[in-house]
Amino acid sequence: MATGRPHQASPGTVGGRFAILDPATGEAFEEAPDQQPDELDAVVGRAHEAWRDWRTDRSARATALLAAADATQAAGAELASLLTREQGKPLSESYAEIARTAARLRYFAELAPEPRPITDGRPVRSEIRWRPLGPVAAIVPWNFPLQLASAKLAPALAAGNTVVLKPSPFTPLATRLLGSVISTALPEGVLTIITGQEPLGARLVSHPGIRHVTFTGSVPTGRAVAAGAAASLGRVTLELGGNDAAILLEDVDVERIADRLFWAAFRNCGQVCMAVKRVYAPARLYSDVVEALAQRAKTTVVGSGHDPGTELGPVNNIPQLARVERYTAQALADGGRAAAGGHRLDRPGYFHAPTILADVPSHSPVVTDEQFGPVLPVLPYRSLDEAVEAANDTGFGLGGSVWGTDLDRAEAVADRLECGTAWINHHAELSLAQPFAGIKESGVGIAGGPWGLYGNLRPFVVHRPEEPWR
Ligand code: NAD
Repeated sequence: MATGRPHQASPGTVGGRFAILDPATGEAFEEAPDQQPDELDAVVGRAHEAWRDWRTDRSARATALLAAADATQAAGAELASLLTREQGKPLSESYAEIARTAARLRYFAELAPEPRPITDGRPVRSEIRWRPLGPVAAIVPWNFPLQLASAKLAPALAAGNTVVLKPSPFTPLATRLLGSVISTALPEGVLTIITGQEPLGARLVSHPGIRHVTFTGSVPTGRAVAAGAAASLGRVTLELGGNDAAILLEDVDVERIADRLFWAAFRNCGQVCMAVKRVYAPARLYSDVVEALAQRAKTTVVGSGHDPGTELGPVNNIPQLARVERYTAQALADGGRAAAGGHRLDRPGYFHAPTILADVPSHSPVVTDEQFGPVLPVLPYRSLDEAVEAANDTGFGLGGSVWGTDLDRAEAVADRLECGTAWINHHAELSLAQPFAGIKESGVGIAGGPWGLYGNLRPFVVHRPEEPWR
């Protein structure tokens, strides 16, 4: 089960602005407006005003979103540099995030809801049409600020809603820039980015003018968001944490998969909801797997995301680094062994050595909970049933993967995983067209693909008889 985590504190406020830290140095480099909850009535009021026109013309919306995608791409260098500065990820990953952001705007611009007749033999012509909901509140975390912002705002705007989006106080700057870039293509009030610290998000999700709350973040905050949104009984979509398992089969080629498996766990410094967070290896291959992953961890270049050779940046923020250190220390105290890393790096900034943990008992928090950082436990199994049971023995249900040469056999094992997406010999490869829906504590509602669009629409049924007075 997910354990509770305290809300993350941000640096203090001075003169209505709060400091933003560079995780590669630990130094403040910029400030963002510390907006207060009493501003929300005006913000949501403007979103309502803007909704009146925005909801009426689908093709105008498509044109605007395509222009927003072009503008995002054109601002790519500036966005990427700022994103790396405040988030920490290597510049190449920031560029990939921006490309994905623009692609998602394009994807939803071109996706139209389809009216559907209801045919049940009665002499009526009933049709389902689709209507937007109204102002949408979007709240996102700090790991993929732009990509996750676009995952919220692209389907919501395409559906004809307006959006008030609140980024994490750790990463508000690139999102503010993205908002101003995208807004050059949108009418006033259609998209508003608000920045600030709690209780700004809590008050936004419970605001009576909000008709859909779409949240990405941790399980404990997700619960608070759902409870807050209950006040206005609006729709709620939650995309929460994960503890994805990778099961390696007997016929896996360890050397061949080691790079891909390693980066499925360590991309974005392991701060990925759908990262591989536990590896289950057959006992016969256990030491080979630990060794292959440890060797990658030891040779990974760790540094500032702005340095050209960097493969792994810092952890984004101090509370998250403390969590990674705590889970690692607990795993070692529980009898685990660091085959690589196992400690914070002795340098300025929030750097943690890429860490491979062996011999960790299955009850240790690094196995049962979401570490969300550059630390990966590898566990041995004796029978496949044992591995599948262990993979499913979690409160989370986001993704999972199976790795082996016999694809049919691997697929049969993948079919037994209790999660939203299962991969074979891959992990976290997502199409814009697929549904993204965690089960258990990993989420409520469906994002992605047409489901993401319909998640921002309500059905409106028109029922008319075949003849006037029948
Ligand atoms: P978090 O839950 O601490 O914060 C997420 C956002 O919620 C932030 O913007 C934060 O300021 C805001 N917030 C905090 N308290 C709030 C409240 N009471 N009401 C409303 N908003 C509030 O999460 P985090 O540490 O920023 O992000 C990491 C988590 O996000 C991990 O658990 C990760 O798995 C999850 N995540 C999930 C997905 C997914 O798609 N399933 C994607 C990325 C990250």
